[in-house]
Amino acid sequence: MNAHIGQFSGRLTIDLGAIARNWKGLDTISANSLTAAVVKANAYGCGMERVAATLSHAGAQFFFVATPDEGLTLRTQMPNAHIFILNGLFAGAGKLYAQHNLMPVINSLPMLDEWLAICLEAGEALPAGFQFDTGMNRLGFRLLDISIVQSRIKETGYLPQVIMSHLACADIPAHEKNNTQRALFQSVIAQFPQIPASLANSAAILGGRENHFQMVRPGISLYGGRAIQGRPNPMAGVVTLEMPLIQIREARTGESVGYGATQTLNRDSRLAIVGAGYSDGMLRSASSSNARSGGFVAIKGKLAPILGRVSMDTIIVDITELGPAIPDPGEMIEIIGPNISIDDLADASGTIGYEILTSLHGRFNRFYRDESGNLSEG
Ligand SMILES: *Cc1c(COP(=O)(O)O)cnc(C)c1O
Repeated sequence: MNAHIGQFSGRLTIDLGAIARNWKGLDTISANSLTAAVVKANAYGCGMERVAATLSHAGAQFFFVATPDEGLTLRTQMPNAHIFILNGLFAGAGKLYAQHNLMPVINSLPMLDEWLAICLEAGEALPAGFQFDTGMNRLGFRLLDISIVQSRIKETGYLPQVIMSHLACADIPAHEKNNTQRALFQSVIAQFPQIPASLANSAAILGGRENHFQMVRPGISLYGGRAIQGRPNPMAGVVTLEMPLIQIREARTGESVGYGATQTLNRDSRLAIVGAGYSDGMLRSASSSNARSGGFVAIKGKLAPILGRVSMDTIIVDITELGPAIPDPGEMIEIIGPNISIDDLADASGTIGYEILTSLHGRFNRFYRDESGNLSEG
C-alpha cells in the first residue's frame, strides 16, 4: 500500500455509543423532565453532525447551540428538531430565525422587542425561550425587568416556550449561591404559570432533583466530562487521543530538558519524544519545571510525566521508570483515554475539561466509534 497523508498522524476517537449512554443516563436521572442536549461549539469539539445524529437516535428532540450559524448547520441536518440559540437573537437575524424555525433564547428587553416585531411582521407567535439572570450577570433579563416583560406579554399575548436561568456555581452543589439563584428562579416562574421551566446544566442535573424543573440542558456530561468538583464522575469517557512516539533518547543527570531549560534532570533518564504539542490541543500549561509538575501521558497503561515545556509539535516524557516495556517509534501514546481523562489533563493544565475538549482540533485523524462498536473515519 502506498503511503498517504494522515498515515503517520495521531488518532482522535469519539465514542458515540458512550455519548448515547450518557444522554440516556441523564434522561433517567431527570426522569420527570424533558432531557435536551447542548451541542454548541461543534458539540464540545466532538463533531456536531455525528453527535446530534446519535443523540437524536437516543431520543433527544431539543437541542441548544450558541449561535445562529450553529443553528443553521443543525437545521440542515435535522428538519424537525427543536433548536434553541443560547446567545439569543443576533441583530438583524430575526428573519433567518423565523425562516429556519430557530428559537432564540431572549436575553434582554431590546431582544424581546425586536423578536415581537418579527412576530408581528410574520403574523404569528414564533417560538422562543426567555432567560432570566438570577445571579450571573451574563445573559438574561434582569429581574427588575420582569414587570416590563409581563406588560409586553399582556399587550401582545405572546408566550415563550420555556423560562430559563443558569446557575453560576452548580459544579459546587453545596454553594449557597445555588439556593439563592433557585429561590429567585422560583419567584420568576411563579409569574409565568403553565410555561415549562429549565435551570439545570450537567452539574445541576447531577446535583439534585430540586434543579430539574421541566427541561434539563446537559452539555459536558454527554461528552464524559466531570461536571461536579470533588465527586466521582459517573459518566462514560467519550474521547481518546493517541499521538505517535517519535524517538527515545538517553539523557544524563544535570542536563536540562526542553525550551527555556526549565527542567533539570536529577538522575540519568530515558526520555520519550511524543508528537503532540500545543497545536494538537496539548495545552502549554501542562508543561513542567523544577518547581512544578505538569501533565502525563500513558504508555502501555502506565503514567509517564511530561518534562519541561510543551512545544508546538512535541512533548518530552520521562519513561525512566517504565522498565523494559519501552515503546517503539511510531507506536501510539495515550494522551487522553482509559488512563487519562479529559479532567486529569485539565487539572494538570490548570483548566477545565470543557477547554480541553474544545481545543482538540490538531493534526490528528478523527474516528467515530458507533453504537455497534464499528469505527469510521470522520
Ligand atoms: C453551555 C450551557 C449549558 C450546558 O452546560 P454544561 O455545564 O456543559 O452541562 C446549559 N445551559 C446554558 C445556558 C449553557 O450556556
